[in-house]
Amino acid sequence: MATFKNIESLGALDGKRVLVRADLNVPMQDGEVSDDTRIRSVTPTIKALAAKGAKVIVMSHFGRPKGQVVPDMSLEALGQPLANITRLPVAFINDCIGDDVTETIDAMENGSVLLLENVRFYPGEEKNDPEFTKLLAANGDAYVNDAFSCCHRAHASTEGIAHLLPSAAGLALEAELVALENALGTPKHPVAAVVGGAKVSTKLDVLTHLVEKVDHLIIGGGMANTFLAAQGVDVGKSLCEHDLADTARDILGRAEKAGCTLHLPTDVVVAKEFAANAENRTVALDQVAADDMILDVGAASVADLSAALHGCKTLIWNGPMGAFEIEPFDKATVALAKAAAELTDEGSLLSVAGGGDTVAALNHAGVAEKFTHISTAGGAFLEWMEGKELPGVKVLEV
Ligand code: ADP
Ligand code: MG
Repeated sequence: MATFKNIESLGALDGKRVLVRADLNVPMQDGEVSDDTRIRSVTPTIKALAAKGAKVIVMSHFGRPKGQVVPDMSLEALGQPLANITRLPVAFINDCIGDDVTETIDAMENGSVLLLENVRFYPGEEKNDPEFTKLLAANGDAYVNDAFSCCHRAHASTEGIAHLLPSAAGLALEAELVALENALGTPKHPVAAVVGGAKVSTKLDVLTHLVEKVDHLIIGGGMANTFLAAQGVDVGKSLCEHDLADTARDILGRAEKAGCTLHLPTDVVVAKEFAANAENRTVALDQVAADDMILDVGAASVADLSAALHGCKTLIWNGPMGAFEIEPFDKATVALAKAAAELTDEGSLLSVAGGGDTVAALNHAGVAEKFTHISTAGGAFLEWMEGKELPGVKVLEV
């Protein structure tokens, strides 16, 4: 089992310049932060470093400026929100490398925070350019990465810099890595995975990796239609990737070989239109009419799936079971989420979930806090579920 360098391993930090990679690429609306999850997530690390007397220098990207200065994508707007949430004074400087930055850091009080300008204003950031990386590292005595959501990218501020400075995972990244390791690295068996969402095509690598790793693979959402159709079920007008029938059959075969029980719905909720409160019926698989759309998993299937979860020790979840944004097609997602939350609460299940819509669905079900761990990283979480090595994580291994 991989272990990672943590902040303690950096030793005494009093008066030291610590470069912290955060993900401050938060959604904004009319100049205001509309979701501050990522700012809150890096706050314990910033506070811990400040409490150790470090000069805390925060770097991040914001938007996709593609190596140019784009004033709309300045991080200056994040200075005040960062100060409000950390309750520390935060200064901002309009560059991330160079002499002005060096001088500003020299003049910083120990325990204070400086926010650097968007690292992606330089093309060297995304290219992981050695010269740019050197200039970034020149302003630090140590490097702390607390941005799991950026770890699937080998960029200067997420990967390159860790080769040049004493480096460590921040508190949020450390917690994330422990949770993910417990869920899929060295989990307690039996392990169940729930994979849902719209399409098989976006999660092919996830499915092929998971059949080798988990004991139960529960497939729901639109992607279940592709599997059902591949087995000869008429799915009517449902969202379905008919061209992936062979792929779906291949995954079914791999699951069987690996001893992974694959669960598909046995009853489904159908409607004639994709709309809130559309007239709907719960039917058996052979009762889907030509003009029906499958929009959710049926109640009998949900009962079976909940029963399967009862026997499991670990759960990893990505993707809703149905079109949860429109009622009443949120029912299966909500019911299964509640079942998982209850088992977690009782201490019999370790539950980890991630994905943009999945987090929204679990919040909608009101159970997000009950899960052992919720990952708010999008791409990084999926790549981890695909079994890929994340460069920003790899470089922090002990
Ligand atoms: P995540 O963002 O958590 O990775 P996805 O983006 O893969 O999840 O999938 C979420 C989307 O899948 C939602 O917009 C949901 O409405 C859609 N979806 C789920 N089930 C169905 C279905 N049966 N028919 C159509 N869309 C569905
Ligand atoms: Mg999504």
